[in-house]
Amino acid sequence: MFKRVLVANRGEIAVRIIYALKELGIESVAIYSEADRDSLHVALADYAVCVGPADARRSYLNIPQILSAAQVTGVDAIHPGYGFLAENPDFARIVEEHGFVFIGPNPETMELAGDKLMAKRVMKEVGVPVVPGTEEATESPEQALRWIESVGGFPVILKARMGGGGRGMRILRDPEELAPAMSIARMEAQSAFGDPGLYMEKYLERPRHVEIQVAADRHGHVVALGERECSVQRRYQKLLEESPAVDPDLRERMQEAAVRGARALKYTSVGTFEFLVTPEGDFYFIELNTRLQVEHPVTEFVTGIDLVRTQILAAAGEPLPFRQEDISLKGHAIEVRVNAEDPENRFAPTPGRIEKLHLPGGPGVRVDSHIYQGYIVPPFYDSLLAKVIVHDEGRPQAIRRMIRALEEFYIEGVKTTIPFHLKLLQHPAFQEGRVDVGFVERELL
Ligand code: ADP
Repeated sequence: MFKRVLVANRGEIAVRIIYALKELGIESVAIYSEADRDSLHVALADYAVCVGPADARRSYLNIPQILSAAQVTGVDAIHPGYGFLAENPDFARIVEEHGFVFIGPNPETMELAGDKLMAKRVMKEVGVPVVPGTEEATESPEQALRWIESVGGFPVILKARMGGGGRGMRILRDPEELAPAMSIARMEAQSAFGDPGLYMEKYLERPRHVEIQVAADRHGHVVALGERECSVQRRYQKLLEESPAVDPDLRERMQEAAVRGARALKYTSVGTFEFLVTPEGDFYFIELNTRLQVEHPVTEFVTGIDLVRTQILAAAGEPLPFRQEDISLKGHAIEVRVNAEDPENRFAPTPGRIEKLHLPGGPGVRVDSHIYQGYIVPPFYDSLLAKVIVHDEGRPQAIRRMIRALEEFYIEGVKTTIPFHLKLLQHPAFQEGRVDVGFVERELL
């Protein structure tokens, strides 16, 4: 078992991981940028090392500095959290070359999953349905047009091969748009992901985004832990997630597909297989996230399994402590992401000092957060302030519990997305479960 682990992240997820480490009796090492000196993860960790200035490229993405911090503090393993270096196979490889355990899957699996075209190819090979798309990278508008004609025409969606975070996708409805969109997308992909590669998919109208959580160990066990509904999105960014979300028959088929994919990829950690589900109930794989997801707590509530603990123990070589037949989903869980953004002003970021704060509590309410009264939300990183997660007997009860919790959430000093969430939770279509990935932009903005 590990004695000491470095957490290569910040914000709520660094706090979440430190909690898991403490509960396992493992010492924690935080890293932080100069802008995060007063952060909660720094205060909670057993040791903390400053790795550079506010600019993430020089701190949270600074691999040499992070490795020095790991060496100086003598850790056994590094947990990357999500974002930053979490899905960077080169980082995972360098970490292992320096004699530390990377808490995640092996670098080869990460490399394959990071290339979305390759990931789709592998899934297709093992019989998992994938969104109809180009099998090779899309190089020229002429080639693109030939493919579009072969699948019955527009609309299509143009994506970056190495993309992520909802960035750089373009819906195309007309041949005129093709050439300019491709040249801009190529430049954007190069600067955001270090690779200009593009591919295309048939654009599905009104699908739902449903993902399957899996857990795997280094002994060949793979277990699926149910699904999460993540269709409530704005600009391809998830705002609210819930579980369960599909009927038992569809769950079984989707879980089976995810487990088959995980086995094909020799998966050894927690991971998420993302699918689009059509109104007819067909599902198609879109991508695999080889890390802990922001929305992992909803799965923790309905399964009763601590995913971060599971992930750390799997990385330490322990076999999974549960089997597929042990898993059942109990009740209903919902998570909302409370961001420092102004929903009245096109969700512009609202960094600043939190003057007053009261977080909600009571039965079935969990708040994952790094904020406190007096904390200054820095302008340099993502805007997630807190995740409020509720669990109750069923979906209507969970919705009421979430409304109750968000009404209790009191924060002064920075504007947040709470008013948006209250509107969403009270929307009849949401309450009836009639939600697809276009719902927010169609009906709430
Ligand atoms: P990223 O890795 O950048 O998050 P994804 O491939 O996971 O990109 O897609 C993010 C979101 O984009 C999906 O949840 C969905 O809303 C939308 N999307 C992606 N592919 C399609 C598609 N083929 N048709 C319709 N919507 C799509």
